[in-house]
Amino acid sequence: MMEINNRNNVVVDGSNNNSKVIYFMTKAFRIQNNYTLYQANEFYKQHKKVLNICMVEPCELNSRNLDYYYEYSEDLFDKLHQFTNDIKLIKRNFTLENILDDVHTIFIDKGYLKFDLDLLNQLKEYAFKENMTIIEVETNVFVPVTTASDKEEYAARTIRKKINSKLNDFSDEVLKDVDMSKGEKEALDCLNDFIDNKLKKYDEHNDPSKHLTSNLSPYLKYGFISPVTIYNLMEDIKGDNKEDFLEELIVRRELAYNFVYYNSNYHKFDGMTDKWAYQTMKNHKDDEREYLYKKEDYENFKTHDPYFNAAMMEMIYLGKMHSYMRMYWAKKIIEWSSDYKEAYKTTLELNNHYFYDGLTPNSYTGVAWCYGKHDRAWFERDIFGKLRYMNANGLIRKFDIDAYVEEMKKVKEENK
Ligand SMILES: Cc1cc2nc3c(=O)[nH]c(=O)nc-3n(C[C@H](O)[C@H](O)[C@H](O)COP(=O)(O)OP(=O)(O)OC[C@H]3O[C@@H](n4cnc5c(N)ncnc54)[C@H](O)[C@@H]3O)c2cc1C
Repeated sequence: MMEINNRNNVVVDGSNNNSKVIYFMTKAFRIQNNYTLYQANEFYKQHKKVLNICMVEPCELNSRNLDYYYEYSEDLFDKLHQFTNDIKLIKRNFTLENILDDVHTIFIDKGYLKFDLDLLNQLKEYAFKENMTIIEVETNVFVPVTTASDKEEYAARTIRKKINSKLNDFSDEVLKDVDMSKGEKEALDCLNDFIDNKLKKYDEHNDPSKHLTSNLSPYLKYGFISPVTIYNLMEDIKGDNKEDFLEELIVRRELAYNFVYYNSNYHKFDGMTDKWAYQTMKNHKDDEREYLYKKEDYENFKTHDPYFNAAMMEMIYLGKMHSYMRMYWAKKIIEWSSDYKEAYKTTLELNNHYFYDGLTPNSYTGVAWCYGKHDRAWFERDIFGKLRYMNANGLIRKFDIDAYVEEMKKVKEENK
């Protein structure tokens, strides 16, 4: 077996004589640089077992995201026949009894959110009963979370060096010369388009009208591409823009994984942010709100703010939102809600329902950031207290924000 650095965690160390090695593909719907697939494939050969692969339907809150997954899964299903003929596409509400018959070892992509842990706990119960082994593999992060840091980190600046100093240890590639699936090819096309046409202007990527971000986030969510693939493909490129992009892709993204891994309240208002942030919100909870809106107002583009409404159009019709607008959008929901908890709930519900890249560690961390997590205290002001404030004047001053509004109105017309 080729030596690769350790991404494995033995969750249950069983020792039965059963014949199957089963790979639960839950997060990395790809072949190239799929570290879990690689380990399962090597392991079954070495131990003279048979390999099964279960492609597990992702947890989603809407049918649009499931349709997106199924658009790619059929082709991946076909391509996985390079490894075994025993492949199952299984629905989220499957029963383990039918799947775990005669299993010796389970390999599973490591997941970090509550629903991932629930699935792992179900598998664990079964494994203990049947004396099976379970091995989780951290296949979708660059540096395994507990290797990067042994605690919940305070901010990007406290984790940056810890991650960047370990990149060379985890940049090995596996399953490189394989027949890739449709999702993987599209992700690579998207990356190459970014490198060829956008990267040189990435320093202007905050302008929503310029379309200079990579759009890689859905591909990363479904694991069609590994951050290691992206990093290695950019190896020969020099310059600050590349460094800024890698800061987002690796440091910010893996700070999000650090957050959801170490903070079991990552998904709850009470617990997701820091003491100073709760204190400042408490101090400002009774401040007068000039506008009060409900979720339905946002979904029907009924606020007084054309920039916010345009961002909602991007969200609802395209399933995404420009990164700068995500911050602005979530900050406005704070400003226009009668309490912070309600604002947090509404923001997460919209985020995880509409975005193709929703329901990921980035989702919870991005929203928590708007409530001070990984940020710092700013000047005190109404409603926000010391939380960072963003206003429309900033958009008008810095960007061609009207071009963004016009573009989203067209998107709305075309999708009505
Ligand atoms: C309120 C709010 C909600 C968010 N919700 C999500 C979400 O549901 N899903 C999601 O993937 N991201 C979320 N983000 C983070 C970020 O906005 C998106 O990752 C980014 O807009 C995706 O577009 P891109 O791939 O073109 O980004 P690029 O600028 O091309 O960045 C490349 C990759 O780096 C990572 N990245 C970029 N910015 C961040 C960041 N701030 N934090 C963590 N990783 C980052 C992403 O994986 C992204 O695909 C949220 C941010 C905020 C403020």
